[in-house]
Formats: sequence, structure tokens, C-alpha cells
Amino acid sequence: MRPEIVVDLAAIRRNVTTLKRLVAPAALMTVVKADGYGHGIVESARAARQGGADWIGVATVPEALVLREAGDEGPLLCWLTLPADAEDGSLSRAVEHGVDITAYTPERLDQIVAAGDCPRVQLKVDTGLARGGAALADWPALVARAAEHEQAGRARITGVWSHFACSDEPDHPANDEQQARFEQALARAEEAGLRPEVTHLANSAAAILRPSSRLDLVRVGLASYGLDPAPDVPHGTHLRPAMTVRAPLALSKAVARGEGVSYGHTWVADRDTTVGLVPAGYGDGVPRHGSNALEVAVDGVRRPVRGRVCMDQVVVDLGGDLPGAGAEVALFGPGDHGEPTAQEWAVACGTISYEIVTRIGGRLERRYE
Ligand code: PLP
Repeated sequence: MRPEIVVDLAAIRRNVTTLKRLVAPAALMTVVKADGYGHGIVESARAARQGGADWIGVATVPEALVLREAGDEGPLLCWLTLPADAEDGSLSRAVEHGVDITAYTPERLDQIVAAGDCPRVQLKVDTGLARGGAALADWPALVARAAEHEQAGRARITGVWSHFACSDEPDHPANDEQQARFEQALARAEEAGLRPEVTHLANSAAAILRPSSRLDLVRVGLASYGLDPAPDVPHGTHLRPAMTVRAPLALSKAVARGEGVSYGHTWVADRDTTVGLVPAGYGDGVPRHGSNALEVAVDGVRRPVRGRVCMDQVVVDLGGDLPGAGAEVALFGPGDHGEPTAQEWAVACGTISYEIVTRIGGRLERRYE
């Protein structure tokens, strides 16, 4: 066995089916950007479609093209276009492939329109994340230009959408405010003569926690992979983490009381013990912030990481046991064989589970089951 990422595609299929039932009659988009949140873009999209995803969502035009080239033919939205997409022909290929492309500005809308024959365009309005999307003040100009293009048969405006800033905090006042602004933006689009097929606003946390935001369609990333988008908020939606990271123990050996472990000796053995070497490190996406904080399971038993996470390996405290080289180490997974979850790793590292699963990789082989 080599260090590997095992992706449970059945878990993705089931999570998607669970979420689709939860949000019905709204449709469901599974978001597979960033290589399917580290689970593999093509395989995750395929599993999501099998589980009932109506749409697939990606950030970039190249990601959309990867899916089309892999044979995905269903509704597909991307939202982060760059001037380079027009320059290198990617935008034209996306239009040809029937990808819905998001526009935030009249200039980018014109660029999409110029890239091919009657592109499918969705318009994004910034209702309070202050990231992508047209500012509310610029929205009337964008919808006016979009209506002009549509009336002239140069584009189809298929959607209008926005994105929450604080949906994992259901009581945050920004949620109501963003939803109200989105309603206003929709009214402006309608006044301009636009009749989009879909309007959408909710990501995973909103799809689960805020039924009023489901509208026509929800864009669900994290929850599709079985991770909880709002771990501090109780809800009854049962999801199963799809990713397990495993490695064989490379070595175990005795360490005497008083010996320092790993670079900088940030942990010094407080008793005679044994340590094990896990052959994956920050070069494979194990966060260095997890030094002296992470846990793993060795043959199903929780063991703490001691000392600094290194580039290729981490050292764990085996507490006097001496498992043979090749004993199985589960770094994280669904949590039902003693291993921590990605969420537990996130807490230990002061980050979110999104970052744990999207960054894991490096030299690890990915295997699907
Ligand atoms: N919609 C957009 C625009 C996003 O950028 C993302 C991811 O960050 C999502 C939806 C999915 O978010 P989540 O993974 O929280 O469901």
C-alpha cells in the first residue's frame, strides 16, 4: 500500500440524492470546482449526476472544458471568467459546448457575446459579499445591456444569481439583507424585460439551513462531499464524508524520555515511548499548522501527531506500542473506524474543512471505490 486518497463515489451519489430531496422542488447544482474539492472533478461530477444533480457548477472556464471534454453534456455553469479565456479561445469553446457563463460587467458580457453564437449567459449581482458580481449601483446598466443582447438574438440570459457571505451563521443579519437585495435585483432584471430560467442564491449552508433561499436552484459544494458546512449549527441532514486519506506506517521505534521529536524539537518526550512515521507531509497537503495538534488513527487507535509536520512525513506518538511497518494509518475519513474527520483536522488547524480536502493531494494517489 502507498499513501492514498480513497474517494467513496457512492457517498457522493447518496449525499447528492439526500440534498436533492431536501431542497425539492428547487433543483440542485453540485459544485465541483478545485478538482471536485479535492475528490476529482470528473469523477465527482459523474457521481453527482448519477445521484440526481440537475446542474454542475465550476469556477473557471478551463474547469468547464475539462468536464465537457470528459463527456458531461448537462447544464453546467461557470462563474470566474478572465480576459485570458477570450484571448486563448477557451471562451469560444465553452460557448460552443453550451456552458452557461457568468457575466458581472457589460464589458465581460460583450466579450462573451462576441465569443460565439448566442451564448447562454447568467448574470451575477453582488448583494453583499463584495467579491464577484455587479455592484447594485451597476446592476441596472448590466441588465439593460443583457436585455439588448437578448432582444437582438445575440445571447440567452438563462440565470440571475448571487452568493451569500454568512450563510453558515443563520442568525447573521447579512443573510436577510442579501436576500432582500437579491429580490430587488430580480425585480430590476424583470423590469428590463429579462425572464431567466433560474434564479439562485444558496450554497450548502443556506440550502440546508435557510429554506427560503432555495429559490429555483441551490449550488451545493461541500455538503455533496459529506462535510458539514455549518458544523456549529444543529440540523438533521445526514451526510457521509466521501474522502479517506490512508498511508502505511513507514517505521516505528523507541524514543527515550527527554528526546526532542521532529524539526525544532517542539515536542520533547515526557516519558519513554514509541513513535511512528507516517509517510505524508505538508508536501502532500497535511497542514503544517497541524504540528502538535492533529491526530490520526493507527490500526483504528487514535494517536497524536508529535512535533512539526515535515514535507514528506509526520511523527505520531504510539505510546509504547510497536506496530509493524505497514500498519494502516487513517489520517482522516468518515470517522467510523476511529479516524478523525476532515472537520476535526480543520478545528485542530484553525481552518475549515474546505481547505483540508482541497489541499490534500501532492504525491498521494487517488483511488475510487
Ligand atoms: N457558489 C459559489 C459561487 C461558490 O463560490 C461556492 C463555493 O465556494 C459554492 C456555490 C458552493 O459553496 P459550498 O461549498 O459552501 O456549498
